[in-house]
Amino acid sequence: MRCANRSPITDHRSPALTLEELDWIPRPKILALRRLEIETVEDLLTHFPRRHEDRTEFPHFPREESDIPVCLCGEVIKTSLRRFGGWKKIFEATLQESQANALSEPIVCRWFNLHYVQKMIMTGQRIVVFGKPRLRGKRICMDHPEFEVIENDDEMSIHFRRITPIYPATEGLSQGVLRSMVYRLLSEVADHSFETLLPRALMNGAMTRAGSIRAIHFPESWEQRDSAREHLVLSEFFAMQMLIASRRTDASIRTGQAHCGPGALFNRFGKSLPFELTGAQHKVIAEIQRDLAAAHPMNRLLQGDVGSGKTVVAIAAMLLAVEAGYQVAFMAPTQILAEQHYDVLRRWLEPLGVHIALRTAARQEQSGPLPLFAGNENPGSARLQRAGDGILPSRTFLESESTPGAHYSHRRLPHFERPWAIYAVTITTAHRRGLSPHARTIVLNAWRHFHNTRYELFAICVMPDHVHALFQPWPKNEASHEETTFWSLTELMRSLKSFTAREVNRAEGKAGTVWEKETFDRYIRSDSDLVEKFHYILRNPWDAGVAKRNEDYPWVWTPEDETRTSRSSSPQNAATSTLQACAPQISADEPQIIVGTHALLYESVSFSNLGLVVIDEQHKFGVTQRARLTTREPAPDVLVMTATPIPRTLTMTIYGDLDVSTIDEMPRNRGKIVTAVRDASKLPEVLTFLRTQLEAGRQLYVIYPLIDESEKLDVKAAAAEYELWRERLHPFRCELLHGRIAPPEKQQIMERFRRGETNALISTTVLEVGVDVPNASVMLIENAERFGLAQLHQLRGRIGRGEHKSYCILLTSAQAKEASAKLAVLERTSNGFEVAEADWELRGPGDLLGTAQSGLPALKIGNLKADAELMRRARAAAVSIFQVDPRLESPENQRFRRLIVEQRGHTFSNVS
Ligand code: ADP
Ligand code: MG
Repeated sequence: MRCANRSPITDHRSPALTLEELDWIPRPKILALRRLEIETVEDLLTHFPRRHEDRTEFPHFPREESDIPVCLCGEVIKTSLRRFGGWKKIFEATLQESQANALSEPIVCRWFNLHYVQKMIMTGQRIVVFGKPRLRGKRICMDHPEFEVIENDDEMSIHFRRITPIYPATEGLSQGVLRSMVYRLLSEVADHSFETLLPRALMNGAMTRAGSIRAIHFPESWEQRDSAREHLVLSEFFAMQMLIASRRTDASIRTGQAHCGPGALFNRFGKSLPFELTGAQHKVIAEIQRDLAAAHPMNRLLQGDVGSGKTVVAIAAMLLAVEAGYQVAFMAPTQILAEQHYDVLRRWLEPLGVHIALRTAARQEQSGPLPLFAGNENPGSARLQRAGDGILPSRTFLESESTPGAHYSHRRLPHFERPWAIYAVTITTAHRRGLSPHARTIVLNAWRHFHNTRYELFAICVMPDHVHALFQPWPKNEASHEETTFWSLTELMRSLKSFTAREVNRAEGKAGTVWEKETFDRYIRSDSDLVEKFHYILRNPWDAGVAKRNEDYPWVWTPEDETRTSRSSSPQNAATSTLQACAPQISADEPQIIVGTHALLYESVSFSNLGLVVIDEQHKFGVTQRARLTTREPAPDVLVMTATPIPRTLTMTIYGDLDVSTIDEMPRNRGKIVTAVRDASKLPEVLTFLRTQLEAGRQLYVIYPLIDESEKLDVKAAAAEYELWRERLHPFRCELLHGRIAPPEKQQIMERFRRGETNALISTTVLEVGVDVPNASVMLIENAERFGLAQLHQLRGRIGRGEHKSYCILLTSAQAKEASAKLAVLERTSNGFEVAEADWELRGPGDLLGTAQSGLPALKIGNLKADAELMRRARAAAVSIFQVDPRLESPENQRFRRLIVEQRGHTFSNVS
């Protein structure tokens, strides 16, 4: 909210004023407000009510109990303080209905151990209470009601006979005082000082921001309150989604490169797998492949339940990038996982000749260099590399975007045709008419003809039904001393089109239009923009699938080909030769895939040619950590994987800046997982069951209740725990795993378990993510009630990974109803998304994922769960704005820029 009226002096208060500047709020109140981070007029006016009370008319005092809280008004006729159990106190205030009649019964309000209440309530006062009436003996009581003492002041009309706002509790500020302040402020600010920052699609009738703010505090009806709230929630969500959409746009218009090889390597990998990929895996691999092949950077989230086979998908992505000649970073949240990934990758990929290295804080090693990739197997990226050889066009874009010495008149030039402007132009054929190879050569030659006379041509590609060109018009009359005029885009296009149309028709023996009237053109703004477009054009035939990966496409041209042409006679040959350029160079002893932990972020691991970053288990990484790896230029493609399914609304916000691919299908060969909650007293029966499973050759995880590895681990206690289990499971072999065991040793323990030398692993939650031993089909979790649902689901995901029927036993000694309701969710479903929804229901989003990690502003009024539909609408609106106008340049979008800049604290590169 900002002052829309720019005139500095008005009678009215600007929302940006601080509360001190108002000069009528006493100092102690200012300090109390500051504790709530309320400093300005706007802060106070957006300190929204928590709820409202209908005080238009108070009901009669109830004579029965009810589960619905009621709001009552009455006079205090008696107070008393009773002690019980030594130091405990109950304060009671008995209320009498105002218009008491013969049938009215007083109501007793009770507060336990709240000293301040007894100081506030006195006989003779009138108070309003809000709470649930309960029958206690013969009396109707309210325990711990919210209350407000009615001061007999002249502000009665603010607090009563209306729908009254109730604010979040504030120490040192009573409801009445807060309400009076808000009321007065609202009377002092003018409507025009609030700007309504909602697109039309989200507006509900004539509701403005000013109207909504007034109505949310002091609504005239419940309907008005509801539509005010909707407006404010939408505004809040819309602002958030604009921020997300701009982040996303920001990322997508950054300079990136295509990092996608032809796929032969991946195909070989696929053939070596002992299973078929699921449909869902194929689907997401195709989505990723499309992103890798595109010039803009990929920002994709790969979501899939535990065991759905994300690793294979990640490997597919890595192989495509490796094949294109790029390096890949694969980051895991823990040492164990990094090592496990390293082993899996080595097992699977070294036979294919891929060179892999491990870089963690504890261990650094790499497999031997392999000859295969020293060769050049990369036709698809050949041109790119050639472009990297120094032929890349580069212009320095001065702020004035002019070249010193050029004389021209601004006025003569339409704004889209600036002097020395560089354009990316696409011309399509009329009705998608196909151009024969001969026709394509004619078009190519015509464009080349004017190179270095009317323009400088940086790159051109003549596709079967369209042409992409990147060029810079030249001045027409360099020699003269008159004002410089440039070849205009319109002129150039007209002459190129009419010339080539005539020639093409003649060559093909046809008549009729060749080209579409419109030309799609784009003005190039920066070096990186230029490079991006350049690459795009050079890759187009391969990206569009017009040419096969290992095939030549002769109608792509850059000035470098011109140099070659002068050496070899035909342009065809020239084009061919460019395709034989070698792959991007990673020297043969450099690893192609580097696996690591966060260490990859902070240590000086150098990548010579980083093309793809895969981040496993994203929720362990914050947004800023992710940014750290990905802000390099040109931006690598980023694939983040999470096994923590999250409710859709949260995906829209927390991962809103990412494209989402979901693996929604489990591999078919999976045995069922049976989950059972058992009381700890049933341990003997459980043990018998465990032994039958071990005897059948299965392996077992026992998770013992050390919730957090950072919780100080008592090594002695762990050892005692272990001894206990060794006895219980004798003669089967057990081993102990926890966070304080040194990594190399941990690794060996895992390895022995993987090989089946150990039958049972007694572990803390270090086992939590990613560990993959298909023969381990039984898991016992002690004190299960101490874990969150999502975490239990994660743990459970360690079993059920092979064809065996699997069992997850949740031992609990909790009597609490809540705990068993929670655990029952796991008995009911093995679907991670359902578990996530239930978890959200039970705990709220804060626990599910650090919302702070998302880097998004906290919500003041909206509720992610209850207002999911509004979030969906806000998101759609924001996305459609950025789709049409990614840099927010159009006049009607100017007002929205502020949303992004203000929220972020600084400007975006795309919106600046
Ligand atoms: P997650 O999604 O939890 O990371 P993984 O990628 O670790 O799952 O895969 C779990 C197990 O399933 C691994 O042993 C993997 O080899 C196997 N797997 C992956 N895809 C398939 C498939 N399509 N069919 C059968 N098994 C598969
Ligand atoms: Mg995994």
